[in-house]
Amino acid sequence: METFDLSLIVSRLTQLEKESRRLEPDSALRKSVLKRAEQHAEEFLQNLDSMPMYVEDKKTHAAAFRSPDFDNAVDIDGALHILREDVDCPGLNPASGKHLGYIPGGGIYYSSVADYLAAVTNRYAGVFFASPGAVRMENVLLRWMAEIVGYPETAAGNLTSGGSVSNLTAVVVARDAHEISAKDFSRSVVYLTSQVHHSVEKALHIAGLGECTKRNIPCDEHFKMKPDALEAAIVSDKKSGLHPWLVVASAGSTDAGVVDPLAEIGEIASHHGVWYHIDGAYGAFFTLCDEGKKILRGIETSDSLVMDPHKGLFLPYGSGAVLVKDRAHALRSFSQRANYMQDAFAPPDELSPADVSIELSKHFRGLRLWLPLKLLGVAPFRAALEEKILLARYFFEKIQTLPNVEVGPPPDLSVVTFRFVPLHGNADEFNKRLADEIRLDGKVFFSSTMLHGKFTLRCAVLAFRVHRPVIDEALDILRKKSEYLMRST
Ligand SMILES: *Cc1c(COP(=O)(O)O)cnc(C)c1O
Repeated sequence: METFDLSLIVSRLTQLEKESRRLEPDSALRKSVLKRAEQHAEEFLQNLDSMPMYVEDKKTHAAAFRSPDFDNAVDIDGALHILREDVDCPGLNPASGKHLGYIPGGGIYYSSVADYLAAVTNRYAGVFFASPGAVRMENVLLRWMAEIVGYPETAAGNLTSGGSVSNLTAVVVARDAHEISAKDFSRSVVYLTSQVHHSVEKALHIAGLGECTKRNIPCDEHFKMKPDALEAAIVSDKKSGLHPWLVVASAGSTDAGVVDPLAEIGEIASHHGVWYHIDGAYGAFFTLCDEGKKILRGIETSDSLVMDPHKGLFLPYGSGAVLVKDRAHALRSFSQRANYMQDAFAPPDELSPADVSIELSKHFRGLRLWLPLKLLGVAPFRAALEEKILLARYFFEKIQTLPNVEVGPPPDLSVVTFRFVPLHGNADEFNKRLADEIRLDGKVFFSSTMLHGKFTLRCAVLAFRVHRPVIDEALDILRKKSEYLMRST
């Protein structure tokens, strides 16, 4: 007696196979789809310079996504049309070199080719057994990063989706290294400054550590942590019977772009047995060039470090990295065994990404970093990073030749803060109007912030497509728009 009716199954399978085989286009169809996608990409890249930096979102842009409408398939041209009109268009254009706001992202071309190949081959990059090659590639990239920041061979790391996940990973490692459990939360003290990226607070919250005692260490007039104040706070907390646990410094703060005194903080942390985490999501890769290396002196004294290839190495979004100086700590937090993974052994010298991270299955994201480095070598990255530092200094000097301008600190890395102080009227309102004017005009993009309670503009130089002509154009726009606004007030 059959449990299942085989003849029914076979006839249904014939139908299903016919339909499901459409998931695999044949060679001719693959080529024609890819050709159309490539034309789309080419058109985008060739028009990039003349595309507006910012486009207001309109109701018409929302129409394509009002309902999923996945019962009616469209051809590749139909899909690319939606992409062109309703995705590539509204909002900010981060691929442009004229992006001088926030911390600009990258999107180097070779990474897109790597992503294509990673998706086609779909190597399983989470576990050594499944793809020794993909895992070795990730590990050699992490060893390279460890080397450029001066971490020893004991270091381990992980390629993550970005700085936020990297900060979370490091916070969890730091928590477990100090064996902090629920009963210790309120006794455990975290030392931060007002300039620490909000993803660190978020990480503490996610890691269950929201109830920790947080000390906001004062900054000097350049927004850098005051080491003396840090030490005083640690000493005082120890006296009160608290447990100084974690200090977080910024190697390139997101807001003002400044680097905390990394070496001094490292000495204090080590002396007092406090875990030292550096958030270098924006700035750590500047250590590749000599100018950056000087400023980032002491970065190697940290216990854990975040660096984002999708910022400082100009990769497309979705590329972060976290390093832990002593791999034993990373393994302790993340290494787990499961019965169904019993075949997945690995040699001791090649860590599986899954053993040092939150993720199991993961994007084969090593390829998008490895391919450009392999094809280009490191020299153009080094040059581009020094170029960004010098462009920021160039902007810093030039902007001060415009009338009624106040600047923030000289740039440590590649962010300049500045504001106009008109002779009449409210300066905050003036700068806000200026920022709005420039955004709507769309030729360049600046973002703004509040520093010392004042509305301040930022020029963040990190797009790989920004070169001197863009900065000259931006200065020209600032001059013209500010003159216009001063005349009209
Ligand atoms: C951008 C940034 C982050 C967050 O990184 P994501 O990749 O956006 O998640 C964290 N810290 C600093 C200093 C940053 O600049």
